[in-house]
Amino acid sequence: MVQLSNLLLGTFALASGTPLTRNDLKACLEDAISGDADRAQFPAEKSFITNDVKYFNLNLKHQPAAVMYPENQEQVAEVVKCAAKYDKKVQARAGGRDFINKCLGGADDAVVVDLKDLNALEVNQRSWMATVGPGNKLRNLIEGLNKNGKRFLPHGVSPTVGVGGHLMVGGLGLATRQHGLSIDLLEQIEVVLANDTIAIASEKRNSDLFFAPPYVELAQLELKTLPEPKEIVLFQYNFTSENPTDISEALKAYHQVMRDANLPRNLGASSSLTRRTFFINGGFFGSDVEYKTLNLEGRLPKMTAKRVVPRTSYIDFFNDIMQSASSFPDAANMYNKDTVVTPGTMPANSTIDAFVDHITTADDGEAGWSFVFDLYGGASNDVAKGGKAFPHRDLIYTLSAATTSDGQTSKAAEESIDTAFLKLQGNRPDRYLSYVGVPNYKLKNAQAMYWGSNLARLRKIKSQYDPSDLFSTPQNVKP
Ligand SMILES: Cc1cc2nc3c(=O)[nH]c(=O)nc-3n(C[C@H](O)[C@H](O)[C@H](O)COP(=O)(O)OP(=O)(O)OC[C@H]3O[C@@H](n4cnc5c(N)ncnc54)[C@H](O)[C@@H]3O)c2cc1C
Repeated sequence: MVQLSNLLLGTFALASGTPLTRNDLKACLEDAISGDADRAQFPAEKSFITNDVKYFNLNLKHQPAAVMYPENQEQVAEVVKCAAKYDKKVQARAGGRDFINKCLGGADDAVVVDLKDLNALEVNQRSWMATVGPGNKLRNLIEGLNKNGKRFLPHGVSPTVGVGGHLMVGGLGLATRQHGLSIDLLEQIEVVLANDTIAIASEKRNSDLFFAPPYVELAQLELKTLPEPKEIVLFQYNFTSENPTDISEALKAYHQVMRDANLPRNLGASSSLTRRTFFINGGFFGSDVEYKTLNLEGRLPKMTAKRVVPRTSYIDFFNDIMQSASSFPDAANMYNKDTVVTPGTMPANSTIDAFVDHITTADDGEAGWSFVFDLYGGASNDVAKGGKAFPHRDLIYTLSAATTSDGQTSKAAEESIDTAFLKLQGNRPDRYLSYVGVPNYKLKNAQAMYWGSNLARLRKIKSQYDPSDLFSTPQNVKP
């Protein structure tokens, strides 16, 4: 570790030996991390963009004023204090896997607080509560819980997503129908507020703060954990055809499965659709025998390939699942969009036909795309709509789309995805909300779309705890 104070003394000492006090953002931030030069990076550094800014979505290249790597909550608070003092916006970064680079603040000149070193992971062997730092990636979380007593909790499918950002949006995954969202197992948080104080929040203590983690720097989490499932069946079904009608038939049959009110909660699935292939990737948290009684295969026509693997290790199962999720690039020009589908807005067969017709024939701007249908509902719908900030407590599935390319995403690709959504929504986008975990940079009225009926309360909390919108992005709830 290079002590900045030594360097600064050398640079700024007067002939008399009296050091000058520097009064600027850089000096303040350097003090905030106790003068450890590696923990404070600024645009003047040669490799600032590649090593520190690390754009995920190359369409959105905002340049921060600094990227900070604090060691603990206290240093996070000091960084926040400096940013406020010098009138800079602040955003935390956990995994850096937000589709619109929210961690960079959505504009130039923000202070980015990278939480990679807030990566504690402990499991109390009596209460089975996990203490988790937000800087962990999902892979560390899953492996850490496994090593500490074979515990687990519901979470998303990408190993590189950060715990901090995942808990900010909710955390939906294959076990969500059985156990809810990651955020539903959250019991307590330790946060740094915009006034640079540190607070603890839970259902009983600072309950508004607990409801609204999006407006604070989440420094530590206490999460309930569950015993790992002992039997899991991994299933992968592939429907590939040059004939759009076959793809449409498969998707319609899958909609019948998704809308089935008797579908067991211990079934989770994600499926992706490209021009010629519909692929279902899922897990049944039970025995092979129970799985067979569901007769999924009999309900899904036109299958061209399948892989069904009973597993007794959750880690093995998840490695399989994550392998397909890991194929997402570390950086690319990308355009993403999402919509939330409820029992009242399930598309009719004719609507599904129109959607498939569009994606199998329309100009994709040569970028290529994929549409992902993630089956949810079940336990996640047991929580009241106003119980947590995540408002979608009447979910059947989410549809998200991604297009990635080497250069700036073309207008044609963006418009084609927008049109596909309109088709699936039967040209009634006003009936649909959107999951904040898959944000869209063109979304109009974004706050209402992401937070639905919880927006009014979130605004109130934001006004109380962050009235100057210090923790800011273009689409966050404003005071
Ligand atoms: C390939 C891929 C697959 C995905 N799959 C799923 C899935 O299966 N299920 C699902 O629910 N979501 C999924 N997501 C969405 C993902 O959960 C969100 O993008 C999430 O917000 C990313 O978190 P991050 O920490 O990696 O991102 P970051 O870019 O670091 O953070 C995202 C936002 O959260 C804020 N934030 C992060 N940490 C903190 C903190 N400690 N305190 C305050 N604010 C914080 C940041 O400031 C930023 O605004 C996926 C994303 C990708 C890229």
